[in-house]
Amino acid sequence: MPSLGEFLHSLPSDDVLRIDRETDTDFVPSALAMELERQRRYPVLVFERPKGFDMPVVINLFSSRHRLARAIGTEPERFNDVWLRAEDEPIPPRVVAGGPCQEEIAEGDKVDLEALPISRHFEDDAGRYVSAGILVCKDPDTKTRNLSFQRLQLKGANRFGASLHSRGHIWEHLQRVKARGDSSLEVAVVIGAHPALYLAASAKVGMDVDELDIAGCLLGHPVDLVKCQTVDIEVPAHAEIVLEGEILTNREEPEGPFGEYTGYSTGRSTRNVLLVKAITRRSNALYQDLVPGNSSEHLLLTHSAKQAHVFERLREVWPSVRALRYPKSGTNFHAYLSVDQSDPGQVRHALMLLFGLDHYIKHAIAVDDDIDIFDDEQVLWAIATRVQADRDVFVIPDVFCNRLDPSAEGGVSAKMGVDATRGSHWEGAKPIRSPGWSVNETKRILSTMDEGIG
Ligand code: MN
Repeated sequence: MPSLGEFLHSLPSDDVLRIDRETDTDFVPSALAMELERQRRYPVLVFERPKGFDMPVVINLFSSRHRLARAIGTEPERFNDVWLRAEDEPIPPRVVAGGPCQEEIAEGDKVDLEALPISRHFEDDAGRYVSAGILVCKDPDTKTRNLSFQRLQLKGANRFGASLHSRGHIWEHLQRVKARGDSSLEVAVVIGAHPALYLAASAKVGMDVDELDIAGCLLGHPVDLVKCQTVDIEVPAHAEIVLEGEILTNREEPEGPFGEYTGYSTGRSTRNVLLVKAITRRSNALYQDLVPGNSSEHLLLTHSAKQAHVFERLREVWPSVRALRYPKSGTNFHAYLSVDQSDPGQVRHALMLLFGLDHYIKHAIAVDDDIDIFDDEQVLWAIATRVQADRDVFVIPDVFCNRLDPSAEGGVSAKMGVDATRGSHWEGAKPIRSPGWSVNETKRILSTMDEGIG
């Protein structure tokens, strides 16, 4: 059964940057990941000696498309297909007697969250935050498990502030236990696990689906689970650290601000309180962290599965849709759509469909399939040379949107579709290109230069 540690060992050595010097856990891991990203470098960062703490910090694991694909045993080009099969052919987990995540157990007074290397990430954050915690809970009626990510602000030895502002299934569960008069919803927080479990937790699936069933298919075998010590929840046996506790239904406290995926600090919060009753962990646990804000890893982890799902729905209606990408620069609000030549109005219809399928998307741009949508510059070039704004741009005002968009008011936003395909007006201008033989000659020249350097 694969763990975070085994996954790290399976990576090529140049894909992991190990920092041996003693390092502050506040700000430095995020700042280093963001700086490398500016240099277009995306290694996993392992801080071997966090100052004042006794376990390594792993961060930036999800920053590359190649590594996400590797986590589910495929290539970036096949990520969508593998993902969709996992949604269609889930493999349920199995409960086993014990596992490494319970090698050490601290309960009650022994619980000390302060001793975990929980980081501050950005200057305006309200405090130290667990950003790579998978919250596991159960539907109070059907007992179906739910996995999701929620930010957790450290408030004391056994206390977190939590925001459930994405209003997902866990929010629903909490409302139901509150309505029936219960004082809390039991939860477990998994910190550090094989990346396929993290991807599964990001799945946008129905409330009747256990995200661990999807993880099973992604891994090719059932996920081993162990029963928690103090709550009625099962967690992945090979996790690094598990926090067992409850979210209170009768209490709200200030939480935030926190650097969100938009690239802005936001105090928008559901102001929940999570109390921890037990910490279980591996003896040699790794602490997993995630760069919040509009980092590559935050955006890729939160939208890769959704993007695959939306792409499939689009293709069901328009098989001429070739590819879909939510670019990092668009912070979950932009989408690029690659389409084959189409009938009049078809591109516009595909763009409207996209807005309907994903309310986060605010600006959607369609391009011909000679444009590489994984290259922002090529998309901008298509807008520069294939768009007449009065003919190719349309705006739909006052549509439901994501509330974290700082430019939107009252939860609604204008949607802009841009048809940057050549279209029927195109007079036949040909893109410049180099003849094939000269491209081959170029490759030969470059290969000799590499030998010279080596
Ligand atoms: Mn769910």
